[in-house]
Amino acid sequence: MNLKIVPCVAFAGVMALVVMGNSSYAGDGTPPPALYSQLEAFHGHVCAGSIFGARLGLAAKEALKEAGGTGKFTARYYDLSCPVDGIQVAAGTTYGNKALTVQERDEHRLVLTASGNKRAVEARLTKKAEELGLKSRDLGKKAKPLAANSPERLNLEMEMEDIYTWLKTAPTGEVVSVTRLNGIKASR
Ligand SMILES: [Zn+2]
Repeated sequence: MNLKIVPCVAFAGVMALVVMGNSSYAGDGTPPPALYSQLEAFHGHVCAGSIFGARLGLAAKEALKEAGGTGKFTARYYDLSCPVDGIQVAAGTTYGNKALTVQERDEHRLVLTASGNKRAVEARLTKKAEELGLKSRDLGKKAKPLAANSPERLNLEMEMEDIYTWLKTAPTGEVVSVTRLNGIKASR
């Protein structure tokens, strides 16, 4: 397979994340392969950021359902970059259906709120996921100037593929940390 690598520059503004609270939720909802195919077609390239978005979006959606959230779910994300597309595909909260707003704060943090009873959850990346995302971006930068199909470039691309595979398939609790914001309106 000749994978086209486009480094995800928009994902560069990263990222001091703190895992919060002690009510963290580790769901087991790993997105199915079909969702990733859909995401790749929608987003236009494969990158750690869009995969993160899918993981955050699906984990948050499942956690909010489990928390008894009612009515339409709306998403707020705090960085305008690749994860936004993953969230739209995986959580079904889209810009067009007015279920997604983005605030530029350089934070990879998703707050999903149930409009019916205002229950809300917050999803962030784990330290490991965050570090692997940064690593894949660095590998992409190294690969870009190398001749296509050179052994060196193929090696880097294989390393990136391994990272993407892990980010796509690792248990949710290893990639995402979800916290319930019980009944607190997520508008700060
Ligand atoms: Zn991307």
